[in-house]
Amino acid sequence: MLSLTHVSRRFANGVEALADVSLDIAAGDFVALLGPSGCGKSTLLRLIAGLDVPDCGSLAWQDGPPRPGMLGYVFQDATLLPWASAAENVFLPLRLRGLAWSEAGPRVAAALVQVGLDGFADARPHELSGGMRMRVSIARALVTRPRVLLMDEPFAALDEFTRHKLQEDLLSLWRDLGCTILFVTHSLYEAAFLARRIVLMSPRPGRIVHDIASMVPSGAEARLDPSYATLVADITRHLRNAA
Ligand code: ADP
Repeated sequence: MLSLTHVSRRFANGVEALADVSLDIAAGDFVALLGPSGCGKSTLLRLIAGLDVPDCGSLAWQDGPPRPGMLGYVFQDATLLPWASAAENVFLPLRLRGLAWSEAGPRVAAALVQVGLDGFADARPHELSGGMRMRVSIARALVTRPRVLLMDEPFAALDEFTRHKLQEDLLSLWRDLGCTILFVTHSLYEAAFLARRIVLMSPRPGRIVHDIASMVPSGAEARLDPSYATLVADITRHLRNAA
């Protein structure tokens, strides 16, 4: 679906964030981009989102450049409008595309149900927990029915219990929706639990040092599966060698 070929990115201040990254992403895959802080993961995601352009190399979508709404982006912070309700926040991307509430309302309601927030449409962000605010943020990304979901450490600020639940719910969503997910994280446990493929990056300038296909069964029970512990050990070894 997407091919990056020899992509590099050096910023105006001289910081070389990415060096010679080549990566093919298949439709429907769940890919974790895993590496230490500052290794260029967000930069890579921004390039894929079209929010930035590479200095060298190329980025090609098989079906041509993504149309508006085809990509959903979820940040580490929920970035909700504090004065607006959950439903109004989820409505925003559709409103910006000129849809009336009469048309968008059912889609907004469906997106809130998808993320487990049925009954919270009228709640303001300050009335919701951190996990629920992130669910609103995910619903806002899903409401345009994206084919690709780009997620930049969305669960990093959440407590362990909430994070586990959101990870499990994200896996169910991915299976139900059949979309492609690119998930940036610096947690190897998170990458090992969620992804079908783990792309390991070196410290800055980010290069791809390993590309691991996960054999861990997908689902809540995976954390207890011996293959999960083996994968975590594998990733740890590769990260040590890359440091
Ligand atoms: P990660 O997501 O892996 O933590 P980033 O992609 O955010 O890493 O950043 C990679 C490096 O590029 C960091 O050193 C960061 O400070 C730098 N960087 C990111 N964006 C910019 C920018 N717009 N201008 C200058 N430096 C930047």
